[in-house]
Amino acid sequence: MSNLRFDVVQDAFKKKAATVQTPKERPSEYFGSLVFNRSNMRKYLDVDTFNQLVECIDKGGSLDLAIADKVAAGMKTWAMEHGVTHVTHWFQPLTEGTAEKHDSFMEYDHKGGMIEAFEGKSLVQQEPDASSFPSGGIRATFEARGYTAWDPTSPVFIEDDTLCIPTVFISYTGEALDYKTPLKKALKAVSDAAVPVCRLFDPKVEKVFSYLGWEQEYFLVDEDLFAARPDLMLTGRTLMGHSSSKNQQLDDHYFGAIPSRVAAFMRDVEIAGYKLGIPLKTRHNEVAPNQFELAPIYGETNLANDQNQMIMNVMTRIARKHGFVVLFHEKPFDGINGSGKHNNWSLGTDTGTQLLAPGKDAKGNLQFVTFFVNVLAAVQKHNALLKASIASATNAHRLGANEAPPAIVSAFLGQTMTDVLRKLLTVPSDTPIEIAGKKGKSVGLVEIPQIFIDNTDRNRTSPFAFTGNRFEFRAVGSSANCASAMTTLNAAVAEQLLDFKVAVDKELAAGKALNVAIMDTLKPIIASIIDTVCFDGNGYSEAWQKEAKRRGLDTETSVPKMFKSFTEKQSVELFTRLGIYSEKELEARNDVKWETYTKKVQIEARMTARMATNHIIPAGLEYQRRLLENVDLMRQNFAGDAEGFQTDWRHRQQGQGDEPGLRESQRHCGHLRAG
Ligand code: ADP
Ligand code: MG
Repeated sequence: MSNLRFDVVQDAFKKKAATVQTPKERPSEYFGSLVFNRSNMRKYLDVDTFNQLVECIDKGGSLDLAIADKVAAGMKTWAMEHGVTHVTHWFQPLTEGTAEKHDSFMEYDHKGGMIEAFEGKSLVQQEPDASSFPSGGIRATFEARGYTAWDPTSPVFIEDDTLCIPTVFISYTGEALDYKTPLKKALKAVSDAAVPVCRLFDPKVEKVFSYLGWEQEYFLVDEDLFAARPDLMLTGRTLMGHSSSKNQQLDDHYFGAIPSRVAAFMRDVEIAGYKLGIPLKTRHNEVAPNQFELAPIYGETNLANDQNQMIMNVMTRIARKHGFVVLFHEKPFDGINGSGKHNNWSLGTDTGTQLLAPGKDAKGNLQFVTFFVNVLAAVQKHNALLKASIASATNAHRLGANEAPPAIVSAFLGQTMTDVLRKLLTVPSDTPIEIAGKKGKSVGLVEIPQIFIDNTDRNRTSPFAFTGNRFEFRAVGSSANCASAMTTLNAAVAEQLLDFKVAVDKELAAGKALNVAIMDTLKPIIASIIDTVCFDGNGYSEAWQKEAKRRGLDTETSVPKMFKSFTEKQSVELFTRLGIYSEKELEARNDVKWETYTKKVQIEARMTARMATNHIIPAGLEYQRRLLENVDLMRQNFAGDAEGFQTDWRHRQQGQGDEPGLRESQRHCGHLRAG
């Protein structure tokens, strides 16, 4: 690049790690200190208010305005003790980022002075202008009203001087304009559908939770180097240039020693994250140079997703303190790995049972197999929709590349579970499923070996992999809001569980014993999935593309076409039956997706043209001028032979042809998608 100067690179290299203000207390002591969690609620609310709020959080339902006033008063006192002066409703519009509009606590006291005030009605509901957010035509400017409404299940938190209230964002006419609303509906749907199935095994179950453990990958770039790349600044990725001589060929970055500047950044992020109640657990170098990962302990999906959005904001802010810019783009640089956000997902009951982990006895194992098989059936039926839920203009550069899941949604089970399912097809329906010793025992029985429980095989090429007690949806992009994938997955599973329960009830009505009724319902499902969506082979291979097509899985690779599956009959039925999206909302969302896709590609195209005009051509002309000067000097000083070398074009042609690096850079310069 013409403006990427050596001194900028040197300065970036010389930067030292910033010092981090580490709190005196241990993380466990300041964990959640900036969150209005239950311990803060107890301190700042009277018993009655506390109980009513907790009831509303645990059971759902709306908060009485008189109670909301008391909650707001308690929150205000707590917040002001932390230096808070402003409040905002914090929501997740369809922009893949969060939105906030700050209002100060300041009000006239009508006696000539000012006071700080915060009332229940401002806590519970606000009215931003909905037409300035993507709505897919639901909100025109002349009917712009939209509402944000408090989601009490996700705790209020403090960022700097602002009290942030997590909210849903809906239009005046009730359509969702955000990610949170449909996610919450899908989580309720999966609980409502799973509870009756759980009660076949344990009548005490009242609620089923969906859990999410995200793994956030990201790049860090020195901010001076970042500022030298207009493409990186405006599109989040490099559109021109050539790859570095040394990138990830030596496999020496993954799990390598964390550079001290980066470690200081990570420490700062963790301190901020702990204060916000985010249980950050893992940090490490990823495969590509300057690529890293951060992951928390998994939690309830709605909260875990809010926390992912929160930490992305925190990382963006803190990176600047350390002289970095954080890149969440799925493919900032060509030729090295891109970034994803694996969504580890599972279901669990309010009685503490993990529904996707083997049980303690035959009954527990039957419950596990029931949920396991139904999840796979849901993924099979809606594989195209699931792919659409993670598709975006930016993720398109990562999917299908040789480091990320292919653009076909299949499921990896591992040898053990594949064997268990195949065995179940051959034995009588009342055969118990046992947990065997390390190696497995006799023939005839269906056994899950002990070793499997803490040690499952891995297949990095699978977009949806079973990892022992959960599925890992690996196709989600690093910049995405997990809600899109999580809404679709939980909805698909909910629908499948509803259908399953109806089928089991029929078997029971025919007088079969419970375990036989369940197994007789499961068997045809197993037979239909085992050689269709289940695939343990190499997802990167060309043979799989053909095979997947033969199996009837969706193999579409064009993102705009993938989006269509949101409005296919089967998807509309799924979402409307469960009350998650209306048909109008689905169409609107697709409009937003298409528009965002088009605009992103357009911005990149413009950027490429401008870089060529403003940077590449001037640099080329400048270089040409220097060459001509050089020829002039050669002429002046060495008349005759030497001059020929500089002016004979054939020498230079040959030179370029011999140098693969140069050839490579020429290729990249002409190629929009090379970044
Ligand atoms: P990996 O080895 O896949 O990189 P990580 O440790 O980086 O694993 O991340 C695994 C994530 O999966 C963590 O967030 C972890 O808390 C989460 N996880 C573990 N068990 C479950 C579960 N039952 N349900 C959902 N997420 C889980
Ligand atoms: Mg990981």
